[in-house]
Amino acid sequence: MSDQAQAGPTRASSAAPRATIFEVGAAESSCVLAPALDVPEVDIERALSGFARSAPPRLPHVAEVEIMRHYGHLADMNFGVDSGPYPLGSCTMKYNPRINEDAARLEGFAGLHPYQPVETVQGALELMVELQEALGEVSGLPAVTLQPAAGAHGELTALMCFKAAHTAAGDPRRKVVIPDTAHGTNPATVSMCGYETVTVPSDARGLVDLDALRDVLDTDVAALMLTNPNTLGLFETDILAMTEAVHSVGAYAYCDGANLNAIMGVTRPGDQGFDALHINVHKTFSTPHGGGGPGGGPVCVTDDLARYLPGPLPTRFDDGSYALVTPETSIGRVRSFLGNFGVLVRAYAYVRALGAEGLREASEQAVVSANYLRILLRDVFDMPYDRTCMHEFVMSSSSLKRAHGMRALDVAKRLLDYGFHPPTVYFPLIVEEALMLEPTETESLESLESLAAALRAIAEEASREPGFVRDAPYTTPVRRLDEARAARDPVLRWSPPKE
Ligand SMILES: *Cc1c(COP(=O)(O)O)cnc(C)c1O
Repeated sequence: MSDQAQAGPTRASSAAPRATIFEVGAAESSCVLAPALDVPEVDIERALSGFARSAPPRLPHVAEVEIMRHYGHLADMNFGVDSGPYPLGSCTMKYNPRINEDAARLEGFAGLHPYQPVETVQGALELMVELQEALGEVSGLPAVTLQPAAGAHGELTALMCFKAAHTAAGDPRRKVVIPDTAHGTNPATVSMCGYETVTVPSDARGLVDLDALRDVLDTDVAALMLTNPNTLGLFETDILAMTEAVHSVGAYAYCDGANLNAIMGVTRPGDQGFDALHINVHKTFSTPHGGGGPGGGPVCVTDDLARYLPGPLPTRFDDGSYALVTPETSIGRVRSFLGNFGVLVRAYAYVRALGAEGLREASEQAVVSANYLRILLRDVFDMPYDRTCMHEFVMSSSSLKRAHGMRALDVAKRLLDYGFHPPTVYFPLIVEEALMLEPTETESLESLESLAAALRAIAEEASREPGFVRDAPYTTPVRRLDEARAARDPVLRWSPPKE
């Protein structure tokens, strides 16, 4: 191997996997300090007569310092947005200000019980109503439900509202149109809602082909589902013509607003002609995510569709009081209670801390960051749609694969050795060897430049010693996993060694 390739990190750090908590410590270790007995002693064997266990339970024997180190080490082995840049496209892994956490932990919020009478939770309802109003303002779609627990759940909720509206009009329809760049949850939602998916292709610009869209629109189409900016990170410039074409056949236009990070305070899906959208507050509104939740996928709709929203909806009355109201033609509940309340408190804190100006600034900075990173990488990686992007962009390692056999997956794995979380890979499906990067507004200039430097160094390593990159990562707790087996046959149970 060349000196150059060896310059990058290759040696395992202290990250090697260690024992489980049961294997740490020694029989005499303990951190239990029980107070002195102040009641009469009881012979437990006799008291339980026959039910007492014959051998003591296998509990960990650990001192406090051992516990702290054990779990501290596990936390260190993880990679999160607090460990380093996390440019996972489509997912908006941005830094979550800690003040949002403080707000969610305020006793008055965290200690609420969902069955409390509404008179006793007026503050919580006020917060939800104000968040509904803020999201209605940001989206340009004034009627809002905070109930859905995540983005896909929001998609389903909105499509169910469309279905209810079409059915009420005596015109049930069968098809939903989605572009070939769509997030996988879109076609899944379409099926779950009992519709058929019709795919519309993107053109050479990476945008929805307007003529192709017009060709598939007919009076059997219930809706178009569109992500804007789309999953290539490009703004759909024909958006007004598209939503108009959709409305002209009596269908609804749905915006997958999972990621609003490029457009908050700049342009509003409602003004672009959309009838509904969901927002992933766990992406754009700074709620920590990854690892499966909890999340929040509020849905915003036009006034016309408000009557179908799931209930109950926190509502403000003229006298300043708050109550829960279910629209008469509501599609019903989509979740227990009112949504993931702690997540909503974080989103509210984020909106209030930034204000309208701050939200706009965050979007503008996210777009500048993505474009800066794109420019730093365009001479090394292929840029299939090489033009100004929004909050993210998609590049490809096709040329590097042809020249050196290095795939997008290899780039992603090697990036871990440099201390960065990999970007999204192999999505969207229309780009070969896709690497989708979303640096977000919370990365500094220095951090963007070091990420670009690492990606450039990896391309360099591949050209000198292709096999070296194909074997990465070298410094992580585990190397390359059999990812199919890790997902299908996970080992989640530890058993003590036989004595
Ligand atoms: C993340 C995402 C979703 C799905 O959101 P979940 O909260 O994971 O259900 C849908 N569409 C797009 C474009 C996304 O990025």
